[in-house]
Amino acid sequence: MAFKLIDLPYADTALDPAISAKTLSYHHGKHHNAYITKTNDAIEGTAHADKSLEDIVAAARGDNQGLFNNAAQSWNHGFYWHSLAPSETAPSDDLKAKIDEAFGSVDKLKEELKSRGAGHFASGWVWLAEKGGKLSVEETHDGDTLADSDFNPLLTIDVWEHAYYLDHQNARPAYLDAVVGSKLNWAFASENLARGSSWTYPS
Ligand code: MN
Repeated sequence: MAFKLIDLPYADTALDPAISAKTLSYHHGKHHNAYITKTNDAIEGTAHADKSLEDIVAAARGDNQGLFNNAAQSWNHGFYWHSLAPSETAPSDDLKAKIDEAFGSVDKLKEELKSRGAGHFASGWVWLAEKGGKLSVEETHDGDTLADSDFNPLLTIDVWEHAYYLDHQNARPAYLDAVVGSKLNWAFASENLARGSSWTYPS
């Protein structure tokens, strides 16, 4: 089964100026597309060919680093596009209650996401995740993912330079201010929390 580059769930201008259409054209059309293409090339004709992307990530972890990197990055970017919205959406009552319990307020969670994202060394991902009914902010390095972890990922933010360099140059905090400030899709996080198991990449 070949995976497809999923469409952006909004127009490529919809996140501007936090994330410009030019950034999305490269980030979605070139970077994400390359991860998908390389994953498809690596699994064609192998025992992985008919597996879900989540199963490929899990099978490749610790076994095939090249496939793992491309499969995990394919998944992470699909999840990231849905983690963003043209205008910030509202959390469900359940998500809001769990945010208040873990962080004190949505605003305090936003501060935590921004500080962890800004402080993350080099490339990676910052996540809002749930495990055992408790929320936490997690970080993964490079192409690593929570897709096959015992966390249920609720939201993610890409902190690789390619996510922000065209718009904000080296100012990762400016990107985080803009994205966390008004572009997070709490409705998507609420769906992920309510499902109680990890989002799956469309096949
Ligand atoms: Mn990226």
